Formats: sequence, structure tokens, C-alpha cells
Amino acid sequence: MKLSFHGADRGVTGSCHMLECSDRRILIDCGMFQGSRELAEDNAEAFSFDPSAIDYVLLTHAHLDHCGRVPLLAKRGFRGEVIATSATRELVRLVLIDAAHLQEEEAGRRAYHGRRRGENRAPPPLYTTLDALNSLDQFGRTAEYEQPLQLAPGVRATFFEAGHILGSASIRIEVSEGTKVRSVLFSGDIGNTGRPLLRPPSPPARADLVVMESTYGDRLHRSVNDSIEEFYEAICGAFARGGNVIIPTFALERAQEILYVLHEGVERSRLPPTVQVFLDSPMAISATEIFARHCECLDPAVARLFRGGSDPFRVPNLHFARDTADSIAINRITGGAIVMAGSGMCTVGRIRHHLRHTLWRKESAVIFFGFAASGTVARQIIDGAEHVRLFGEEIPVRSAIHTINGFSAHADQRELLAWRSGIGGCETTFLVHGEEPVMKQLAEHLQGHRVEMPRLGEGFDL
Ligand code: ZN
Repeated sequence: MKLSFHGADRGVTGSCHMLECSDRRILIDCGMFQGSRELAEDNAEAFSFDPSAIDYVLLTHAHLDHCGRVPLLAKRGFRGEVIATSATRELVRLVLIDAAHLQEEEAGRRAYHGRRRGENRAPPPLYTTLDALNSLDQFGRTAEYEQPLQLAPGVRATFFEAGHILGSASIRIEVSEGTKVRSVLFSGDIGNTGRPLLRPPSPPARADLVVMESTYGDRLHRSVNDSIEEFYEAICGAFARGGNVIIPTFALERAQEILYVLHEGVERSRLPPTVQVFLDSPMAISATEIFARHCECLDPAVARLFRGGSDPFRVPNLHFARDTADSIAINRITGGAIVMAGSGMCTVGRIRHHLRHTLWRKESAVIFFGFAASGTVARQIIDGAEHVRLFGEEIPVRSAIHTINGFSAHADQRELLAWRSGIGGCETTFLVHGEEPVMKQLAEHLQGHRVEMPRLGEGFDL
């Protein structure tokens, strides 16, 4: 048995790990590198293995940094089977088609700028919409939580709840070697407990080796309930001043969590029943519809609401804006509205128009949830910039700015350690999906067994 590392090694994006056993090559995730331009260019590099020699890709969840290179893998020769939970499979379709669109647009822009400079060769998109659609043909069996799937004689994979986003899983692979069974558990991204929609992570009781994420291995989150109260107060403050609330949001999970919390706020009279809520993101709207179809992945209380015929995402005045015209019309409303749009870090998308119309108004509020990478418009606003540049214009920042941190989709240090300590029999923990200094801090708390922090391309004979 051999374990090797091909992404998210001493970094947080591009997750891709390989297990070779019983003549099979199994990839766990095949995600995209994201962030700086150099990282993005890493996606176009050749894989450090032969795609046509891969038998299986097991996907832990639908985030782009875990599934985003599947179309590229298929385009370069992968003919094996992709296995994921049913919810992941549906969300992956959305995510990959959206990613292909963005890459086609970006390639078109580069080609145009190139032509202006007199160049007639421009790099093609990483993959096209057609490549993404074709890669969906490789999806085979659907994984049910805690139901083992046979990959080869003596090789079984089982998916366990990871509590990170809808359909997310930790995956254990068990390999029979004579009379002995050896197992490797891949954590995927591990959720924060106590979140409004999802069940908590539920890893298996035993694994010989654990490959574990470490994103927030150095910090503790604020409690979800305190964060919800902070959110209601920020909204009520803006409404009392006669303004709107703008929320830059990620389309998967975060948008649905916010809708649910808004619904609860109206039910509990913490928010006025007249509040107008606009979900201004076609991808978030589709993701919201997918949630309603997957009660098997939801917190039992939320699942009961859906099964009883009510919709826990639907505040009385909820509007879905799919078309650009609907999005533009929102800007005519000057008070009492909440507008959610992407992208979460304000680098692209409709949110930039809403910020242009809102940031200069001191009666309004902009509320950020969670992480914003340095250099992004979101980060500039969070860091207190007096002006930001949008569509070539300097826009003064006069709105109230709030950053609410307790909604993280990732476990904090205490939860990561609790997750890990629940797994018995482990010889070695391999830390992945984290920045190096963060991993080192987490490693200090992992005692009683070996801890490895593999580098990109490193392999271990087990
Ligand atoms: Zn994730």
C-alpha cells in the first residue's frame, strides 16, 4: 500500500491524495489550486501521475478546491469511476459548469487583450463547458453514508458524515492483506459543530492511518449563537437608520445558512416580518433548491421542517434574482432590504454592483462572514479602507462594516482535536489542507503517535 500527496500539501487548495493498493490507483479528491495567479497556473501543469492509470476518484465534497480538476483529469485520459454522495454529485455539476464558464470567459478576455497587443496566440481555457459535461459521464455509483462500497477484491470504501457542507464526507478505505485489514481515513474538510443546517461530523471509531485537514488548527471560533445575535443586531441597526444590508456570500452552504437564520429571525420576531430578502446569485439559487432535495444530509430538525411541507429558507418576502434585469432592479430599493450576492470575496460577480450603490451610504451596512484573502476588495473593506476601486471608480466607504466569524464551515482547533481523538488505533496522522505554521501548531497538540506534514509529490510506503 502506498500513499502519495498531490495537492493541498502545506497549503489549503488543490486537494488531491492517492492511495495505491491491490493493483488499483485511487484518488481522493482532485481539486483546483486557488488564490494567487501562480497557484492558478499550477492547475494547467501536468499531473504528477498518469491520469489514464487512475481507477477511481472518490470525492469528499463539492467545493472547487476538492473537485475542480476532475474535468481536466478526464480530458487528459482518466476513464475510471468517480464516486460521491448523491448531494455532492448534484452540487459538483453546478460547481464544475460554473467553473468552466468562468475559465472560458477569462480565456476570452486574455485573447482579446492579447490581440490588442498584436499577439495572435492565447492560452486556451483550462477546460471548457463541454469538458466539464463530459467528465460527468465518469460519475458511477452513489455513496450512502456508512455503507461500504467494494472497489476491488479486498478493497472497500466507506463515506462518513463530515458536517462541512451538504453531502460532505470523510472517506475510509479498508484494504485486506491476508488475514489483516489496514485502513486509511481521509478527513476531507471537517465541519464546525452546532451549525444551523447540518449534522455534526461523525467519523469512524477506528483507522490505522489518518489524513487530516488542518485549516484552522491554530484558532478558536466564536460560538454560532453569539454570531447569530450579532448578525440580527447589525441588520436592525441598518434598518433603524433607513438603510439596506449587503451580504457578500459564497453560493454553497453559506447562502443557505444565512437564509435559514433570517427565517428563524422573522419567526422569533428578532427581525421585522416585512424584511425584503434578495438572493441575487443564480448559483446560490440552484444550490438552495438542491438542499431541499437532500433531507438525508440535514440536521434532523431541519429535515422534519422540509418533510412536513414547510420551507425553512423562505422568509415572507424572499426574492430570487436569476436575471441581470432583476439584479439591477434591486438597486432602486433604498431601505429595509437584505441583498445577498457573490462572490464572497467581492473579486467578481453581482456583489460589486451592489457595493458600488451602497458603500457610500452611511445608513446602510455591509456584513462579511468569514475568510477574505489578502488583496481582495472584501479584505480591503474589512481592513478599514476609506475608498475602494470598483468599475474604475473610487467609492468612499461610509456604510457600517461588520465581520461575523462564528459561521465558519471548518472546525477550529478544539473541534479538530476532538474529531481526531475519537478515532482509535491510529499509528500516523498526515496533516494536509493547512498553512505550514498552522499545521505546526496543531501538530504540537497531537500526541501519542507519529505526525507527518507531507510535501507536494511526497509518497509513503505503508
Ligand atoms: Zn471545503
